[in-house]
Amino acid sequence: TEETQEWLQQYVDDWVTFYRKNTDDGELASYIPELQKADPNALGIVIRGNNGMTLRSGDTGEQFTLQSISKAITFIVACMERGVSYMLNNVDVEPTGEAFNSIMHLEMKQVKKPLNPFNNAGAITVTSTLPGTTSDERLEPVFQLLENMFGHRLKLNHAVYESERKSSTRNRAIGYYLLEVGFLESDLDVTLETYFKQCSIDVTIDDLARIGQVLANDGMDPKNGEEIVPRQIARITKVLMLTCGMYNASGKFATYVGIPAKSGVSGGILAAVPPRVRDDTMPFIDGCGIGVYGPALGEEGNSVAGIRLLRHIATQWDLSIF
Ligand code: GLN
Repeated sequence: TEETQEWLQQYVDDWVTFYRKNTDDGELASYIPELQKADPNALGIVIRGNNGMTLRSGDTGEQFTLQSISKAITFIVACMERGVSYMLNNVDVEPTGEAFNSIMHLEMKQVKKPLNPFNNAGAITVTSTLPGTTSDERLEPVFQLLENMFGHRLKLNHAVYESERKSSTRNRAIGYYLLEVGFLESDLDVTLETYFKQCSIDVTIDDLARIGQVLANDGMDPKNGEEIVPRQIARITKVLMLTCGMYNASGKFATYVGIPAKSGVSGGILAAVPPRVRDDTMPFIDGCGIGVYGPALGEEGNSVAGIRLLRHIATQWDLSIF
């Protein structure tokens, strides 16, 4: 009801105001210079519930780039294009406990493939399996899937793309290593170009909340029951979000928040709260998608205020999937 929406909105507004002042220990990502232009104190959230109720609070109008959140999208698209078993033969589903851009696990003898699609090595491997010869051809199904969800086409942020490309020594090193051990399926340069572009797609937290809602509902659009992402792929993606989505802070996030989520170094977090049977009074938050933006990052590369806000909301509203 309207009344419920009003008091929920009041709560969210208060929490956003509180956590916005809580970014001092965070820093903007510095290794991609263009990301330094963000306002470190920005914080916004959008929560989209299955019953059609949407809560929006704080800096909801900001555009920012997908960065690592794109790893979830390209994994979904690659599974849709190449098949789940094919993809799982090429990349494992095990958390690493290492930083997102770590190269260490690739060197271990027993490792026959990158450990998961959500660290850079695994994501670059996934991107190398996308069909098409140019980076734009490879990204087309990615843009298509996103357009199916939003009803409008997203755009590339050229400034971030250029910035990312120019400061890409680490990702190139990972790429060359993948090439050396035979994990890459197609041309390295095109693969890296595709990867930098997928990271540089501009979104808003409304967009992230929408993706989260589709994933929360196992790939289905709750409005009309239409399948946007096949159920099995949506489920595996949520498993990966829970186990690897927050880099080497995934265990802590699962412990304190308990929701499948994927972060990016621009400060975005995409979260999916699956519906579950409950006896409480807040059916609206069942099966909801959440988008958060707060560009000041902690040590592991996740939004500091964003994580605190999500932890608070998950605790107050009992959103943990466990
Ligand atoms: N574009 C970034 C990179 O490859 C994405 C990393 C991230 O968001 N953690 O380094």
